[in-house]
Formats: sequence, structure tokens, C-alpha cells
Amino acid sequence: MNSDFRVRFAPSPTGYLHIGGARTALFNWLFARHHGGKFILRVEDTDKTRNTEEAAAAIYDGLDWLGLDWDEGPRAGGDFGPYFQSQRNGIYERHLQRLQTTGHLYDDAGATRFRSPREHVVVDDVVCGRIDFDLTNPETHPDMTIRRPDGSWIFHFVNVVDDIEMKISHVIRGEDHLSNTPKHIELYRALGAAPPHFAHIPLILNKDGSKMSKRDVGASLNTYIEEGFLPEAVRNYLCLLGWSPKDNREKLDLEEVVRLFELEKINRKNASFDLEKCTWLNGEYARELKGERFYALATRTLARAGIDLAAFPDPYIQAALDTCVGKFKTLAELPPYCGFYFRDDFPFNQEGVAKHFTPENQPRLVAVRDAFANAPSFDAATLETALKAAAAQLAVKVGLLVHPTRLAVTGSNAGPSLYHLLEVLGKEKVLARIERACQTFAFC
Ligand code: GLU
Repeated sequence: MNSDFRVRFAPSPTGYLHIGGARTALFNWLFARHHGGKFILRVEDTDKTRNTEEAAAAIYDGLDWLGLDWDEGPRAGGDFGPYFQSQRNGIYERHLQRLQTTGHLYDDAGATRFRSPREHVVVDDVVCGRIDFDLTNPETHPDMTIRRPDGSWIFHFVNVVDDIEMKISHVIRGEDHLSNTPKHIELYRALGAAPPHFAHIPLILNKDGSKMSKRDVGASLNTYIEEGFLPEAVRNYLCLLGWSPKDNREKLDLEEVVRLFELEKINRKNASFDLEKCTWLNGEYARELKGERFYALATRTLARAGIDLAAFPDPYIQAALDTCVGKFKTLAELPPYCGFYFRDDFPFNQEGVAKHFTPENQPRLVAVRDAFANAPSFDAATLETALKAAAAQLAVKVGLLVHPTRLAVTGSNAGPSLYHLLEVLGKEKVLARIERACQTFAFC
């Protein structure tokens, strides 16, 4: 435990949380929680062209969804605020003054530039190792601008000032910032501050090796939220993008990751993004969903899909959902899977109709209807016995009755266990639906 450790996630508000940003936030959070340190959220909103409020909300929502709570920052407060760069102008002015007094700055057509000491700068990165950057050549490493002629600040300067002011001990960020780091170290030194530890995490690449861009499928965290992924699964998947417990396990609960997480275990190779694997992992978690949390998530998903649950009593909804436990990989699969419980006018799968509503099956479906109508009770076991008895009487395989029955009462060829769904629907609905199928297709 080291409660002096302070790390930060410092996104620029772009309107959505990129999967790479989410992973950076997660690694910072894991590091802070592992060491008992502080996780800080700082909004780097020096680019005034964007609407910060709305864009920052996308970041809060994403972090909330992933369960990454921050100890200091917007909404949380803290002793080192404000946590928006746009509100820290006075602090930047003060540091600029200091650099001015110590002769590190010069004016260049209205812009303020930092005079590089022109040295080698060694970055001793926790993940990438020791790297010697040769900054002696002004041709390849021109002096950096820290303030534009219009008075706006350049990222490098405000980023370093904030990390000093906020007493950040470890800068954990994407490898795309590695090449900025020697310049940042020059600024730390000029400001008389010891640089923090740096840990640059490898990039996330598409499967084909290209850099993941905004437009790539799965690049925005919103996609997962909208498509019914479970936050614990996405979080687990993100843990594995560049880090692993080194024993090939993939499904890891969060407490365990917090316990095991070390920057030294971050992979130096670029991480390859694999949506299928994320979906598989989601399925592993989805299979375990049950009880209150499942009902809450499922009803929200169904409502979002336009299914009106208001007319149905809770026990009916819960019984319907119980037949879906363990049967889907993402919540988005639920509405088409179990929507039939909540509407009587569902369409029929066309292939199913061609295959199962055949003239030979007419008397079979009628036999099922009669068997159900005469069943002594309407529970799954009794219905199974009744259907099997009807099959025996007709001397046909059980499957020849099961498929048309399922299609008649659900409109689909696949779904929850037939006898259980029949029990949930109840006698009245089941008989009415078989009747409707017969009438619609006029074959019985
Ligand atoms: N605002 C920068 C970014 O979003 C932060 C970089 C850093 O973590 O230092 O890339």
C-alpha cells in the first residue's frame, strides 16, 4: 500500500469514450486501487471549439458504466482542483511567469516557445524500458511552442503543469505519448520539479494490425453500452488488452485483478483488439446473470427495444425471463429471443413456415392443441407428457410435433425450452396462438 501514489486519467473531451481511453482509465484505476492511492480525473479541455459539458458527460457516463470511480475530479471535488484545464488559467500564467523569469522562454511571432536545453533525455519507462532520446538537433526537435499567439495553451505545457500541481506520482498513458515524454521531462526540469514515473501502455490495434481509429467497429465505449454488453465483461476484456495474469486465465473477477495488477506486468507488444473475444467473454458473464440484477437489466433492454411490459404482472415477466437465463451472449439478443411472451401478433419465421407448417403437419398440430386442451394441468412436465403421448398416438417422432408447436406459439424456430415457455404463457394464450397459426395459414 502506498497512499502517496496519485495517478490520473486526463482525457480530452471528444464526445465519446474511446476504447483506448477506457483502458487507460482502467489501468490507472487498477494501479490506484492496488496501491491504495488516488485516482484522479482531469478534463483536458483547452480546445475551446468543443462543448465541454456534453463531451465530458460522455466520459463520466463511460467511467460510471465501467465502475471506475474517481477520488478527485469533476463531481467528486478534491484539494487540487479545478479539474478542468479551462478553469486553471491562473495556475498556467504563474508557471509561465516562472519559466520566463528563469530565461527558458522566447517570443516567436506572438507565440511563446520553450528553449530546449539541447541534451539527451533518458526516459526510464516502467513498461517500455530505458530510452535515450537525443534532443540536441533543432532540425529534428524544434523548440516547442507552449502558448499560441491567441493566448491558448499547448497540451505539453498544461499537461506537465497539472501533473506537477496535482502531485501525480505515476503517469500511465497510451504509448502515442511516449515521444512527447522527453519534452515533458525538459519542462519538469525547467520548472524545478522531479518528473513522475512514466508507464506507456501499448497501443490497441485492429486485428489486421492497423491503428484503431474512431470509425472502427467497437472503438467507442457507447457501442458496448448500446449493444447490451455487460460492464464487468467489457472491463474484464479491457484488462486483458495489454495485461495478463500470465497463466492464460481470461475470466477474472475485479478484486483479483486489483490484487494482481502491476505495471511491470503490462505487455510491451501492441494489443490486438478482438470484438469476437470480447463478445465471448460477455457470454461467459451473461450466462451467469440471474435474479434481481438480471430482471432489471433485461426489462430495461426489452423496454428500449419498444416492448411494453406495463400490461404484464411481475411474476409473469420474471417467469418469462427465467426461461432465458444462460441463453444469450449479449442482452441485445433478448428482445428477439423472448419478445413473443409480450405480444400475440408476432410475425412467423418464413423458413419455419415453409418447413413446419406443411399439410402433413396439420393434423399433428391439431392433435397437440387437443392434447394441451385436455391436459390435467398446465405445467411443463404435464405438457411434455401430453405432447409425447400425442406423438406416440400418431406414431411420429416427437420432433415433428415440437417444431410446429414452437413456431405456432412463438413465431420462431429457436428459443427457450418449449415446455417451460408453454407453462409460462399459460393455457389460454397457448391455445389461442395455435388457433391463430392454423387460421393464418389455413391448414387446419
Ligand atoms: N489529454 C491527453 C490525451 O487525451 C492526455 C495525455 C496524458 O495522459 O498525459 O491524450
